[in-house]
Amino acid sequence: MKKIFALIIIALTLTTAVVFAAPPLFDTPYIGNAYRKTFHKRDCESVLQMNYKNQVPFNSREEAFAAGYSPCGNCKP
Ligand SMILES: [Zn+2]
Repeated sequence: MKKIFALIIIALTLTTAVVFAAPPLFDTPYIGNAYRKTFHKRDCESVLQMNYKNQVPFNSREEAFAAGYSPCGNCKP
């Protein structure tokens, strides 16, 4: 039982390190979340926590809207 608990702690630590220290994959001013269909300013906290496989690059708000994405409620891109 103790071993399982230790494994969970290790797994959480690794996940947290990856999730919280990840800059966006793309160099564009806006980053979309393909899973939620929302887009963010590049420096939004949500972008740092976003899984790489869900990231979509946008060069403008128009481009994001055209792709059917909605603006984030926090960073208000
Ligand atoms: Zn945002």
